[in-house]
Amino acid sequence: MSSGEGSDATRADAALPPVLDAIVVGAGISGLVAAHRLKRAGLTVGVIDAGERPGGVIGSVRQAECLFERGPNSALDTTPLIGELVEQLGIRSEMRFASEASNKRYVVRGGVLHALPTSPGAFFSTPLFSASAKFALLREPFVRASDPHAEESIAAFVRRRLGEEFLDYAIDPFVAGVYAGDPEKISVRAAFPKLHALEQRWGSLIRGAFLGASERKREKETAKNTAKSFSFAGGMQTLTDALAASLGAIDSDTRVTRLQRSDDGVFTLQGERQGRMLVWRARAVVLATPADAAAALVREHSGDAAAALDSMAYAPVATVASAYPKSSIAHPLDGFGCLVPRKENRRVLGVLFSSTMFAGRAPAGTALLTTFVGGLRNPDLPRLHESEIAAIAHDEHAALLGAREAPLFQSVKRWPRAIPQYTIGHLSRVERAQSAARMLPGLFYCANWKGGVAVGDCIKNGHLEADLAAGYLHTP
Ligand SMILES: Cc1cc2nc3c(=O)[nH]c(=O)nc-3n(C[C@H](O)[C@H](O)[C@H](O)COP(=O)(O)OP(=O)(O)OC[C@H]3O[C@@H](n4cnc5c(N)ncnc54)[C@H](O)[C@@H]3O)c2cc1C
Repeated sequence: MSSGEGSDATRADAALPPVLDAIVVGAGISGLVAAHRLKRAGLTVGVIDAGERPGGVIGSVRQAECLFERGPNSALDTTPLIGELVEQLGIRSEMRFASEASNKRYVVRGGVLHALPTSPGAFFSTPLFSASAKFALLREPFVRASDPHAEESIAAFVRRRLGEEFLDYAIDPFVAGVYAGDPEKISVRAAFPKLHALEQRWGSLIRGAFLGASERKREKETAKNTAKSFSFAGGMQTLTDALAASLGAIDSDTRVTRLQRSDDGVFTLQGERQGRMLVWRARAVVLATPADAAAALVREHSGDAAAALDSMAYAPVATVASAYPKSSIAHPLDGFGCLVPRKENRRVLGVLFSSTMFAGRAPAGTALLTTFVGGLRNPDLPRLHESEIAAIAHDEHAALLGAREAPLFQSVKRWPRAIPQYTIGHLSRVERAQSAARMLPGLFYCANWKGGVAVGDCIKNGHLEADLAAGYLHTP
């Protein structure tokens, strides 16, 4: 990408780069999708990323004939935009949907894995919930909806509508699986807007699940609980690599350090790569970075927007890929994986049965597991030495899955700020962050701290913000 270069500000001024239509800061899935969309709209786009390679937290690794993920293992096919994107990138034939076997999902109770019921019959016979918890579900349609403006935690919401046990053994492990977070802190309106809307629209989740289905069909959206999980033959990185390739040059290993806008509407960005200062110019800027990085760039324009962004909490997580001889694991690993409720007092959030989910992830006779350690339950664990984190994962595999032998290999990746937490007050923090965008016309945010953390949400938001930016640029 065209940038001015110099060892100090004066030299950089002397070699001012051309004014692009848009610059996207951050080449995770959010920024890459936004840049791809802008380019398809016929605009000139530059992409700058602090990482060594594009993709952000998405990264697929090959080791000892296994293929595992450092970040997301799969995504949900919730929006037709995903299919369109995959088609445009020419990677449809690489796309893989999770195996039939992985429709089975386990939750741990009393140290034992129980399959989550998927039919009314299975629900009434499962030992995962007591008779009184099942009965509580029957009265859900008669529980009154909350004040639409009150902000409630997902824990309070579920306790009110479905009861304590459903919170402990269904929602708490789910919140751990998606946010690595604490259900007592996460806002139902910010993190689960569809659940909140179901209650407000239909007065009941159960009624809304049935009656809202035709509405979702009309919108061509698929609910997260029914959408299929997908990845690619070469792992999730196939998607971000293809997006990056479609964009041409990306300024990797380059950190944007300053953002300014002049009265003629042109943004100047300053950045740094291996000690060299660089300058770019554009008529629009999409900030597709984590909240703290966005805060650093808007601080000189709006202290309040920066404070709101800085106050967004993130959960730390370590992922551990472990390969075992299949014969050394007692559990059949016949599912997606298992989630672990907080009440179980274990040291893992969950374990994915990665080689069951997707064929070709490990040689025949080898089982590949991906284990999540830490989250807000155990925020200190991801700070331990990698060998200690690997040992925790193995101990839990032995206890929960009956792993009898040492792993063939383990690989640990620590994410100190893995997932943004949509806690109570999050929507007003997002609104305060937007105030900087209103003060600087042409500035857009697009990242997982806004509009959803799932890969599918990031793809949707990448489209949305790119369309807003293109609309702004096309306005005379
Ligand atoms: C361990 C883990 C497991 C997950 N599992 C799943 C899953 O199974 N399914 C699912 O749907 N989602 C999952 N998620 C969530 C999902 O992967 C993320 O929310 C999503 O990928 C985030 O994309 P993003 O582009 O918004 O942010 P990021 O991927 O964080 O990208 C932000 C980019 O900004 C760059 N950047 C930061 N500061 C600057 C700067 N100053 N200048 C230039 N560049 C900068 C960074 O280098 C980075 O590349 C998981 C996340 C993690 C961490």
